[in-house]
Amino acid sequence: MVLRFATHQGRAQLVVGEGTHLVDLEQVSNGLFSSDPMQSFARWAELREFAKTITAVGEPFDPLTLDAPSPRPAQLFGIGLNYRSHATETGAPIPTSPLTFTKFASAINSPYGDIPIKHSTVDWEVELVVVISTGGRDISVASAWDHIAGVCVGQDISDRALQMATQPPQFNLGKSRQGYAPFGPWITDSAHLANRDALRVTCLLNSQEVQNSTTDDLIFPVDYLVSYLSGIVELSAGDVIYTGTPSGVGAARTPPQFLSSGDILISAIEGVCSITNLCI
Ligand code: ZN
Repeated sequence: MVLRFATHQGRAQLVVGEGTHLVDLEQVSNGLFSSDPMQSFARWAELREFAKTITAVGEPFDPLTLDAPSPRPAQLFGIGLNYRSHATETGAPIPTSPLTFTKFASAINSPYGDIPIKHSTVDWEVELVVVISTGGRDISVASAWDHIAGVCVGQDISDRALQMATQPPQFNLGKSRQGYAPFGPWITDSAHLANRDALRVTCLLNSQEVQNSTTDDLIFPVDYLVSYLSGIVELSAGDVIYTGTPSGVGAARTPPQFLSSGDILISAIEGVCSITNLCI
């Protein structure tokens, strides 16, 4: 079985079948694995082997009740201007080192959670999100994928006015309002990704495609980001990295377009997973 990891009502789950059923990890493993999802990431290789033995059909679930698959990461990184196409559309120079900010953990939203729109310049950014398995310091580029549990899709929702409120800009707060960090719906084991360095990332706004690119356009690819960050800070199991957004965000449009109540965002990694968020 492909290892896909979810969190439901606070408990670690394996996703089975067509993504319609869940198996409770602690129960199916007779306590070998904890019900606490944050305990699973450091044991990812062991979990991968265990998942191969699962034959249970699981229980159907309502996707709206899923939690973020890594619900309490110690660190939540965002990378800005990391697609050539997006750097170009913003008029910014191509970065020579990763433009790194944090999304504060209180912004974490569930994969189908509503996004409160309380400001006039709220923008969308679909992103490939990776979750760390075994962390550490000074991880090499060559071994970086061995430190990644897997991938999911996220929205790096941004209040552009707040993001650009100071000079020089400081992104952290503008990326961290309530509900601004939905990701999920589950983590797909990176070992099962045939094309992990060329994943197609798409965003639909009210059924209209606004973003569509592949991660081979990343200026700093996933393995480089893990290596770079671990050379500065210690990465922990369950840490989350938003790897950047391709072109097509609202602020770069003519005229600029921002989110309002009633808008629906569908964000996807093609063939892997998708999340849906209603703006309220
Ligand atoms: Zn972003």
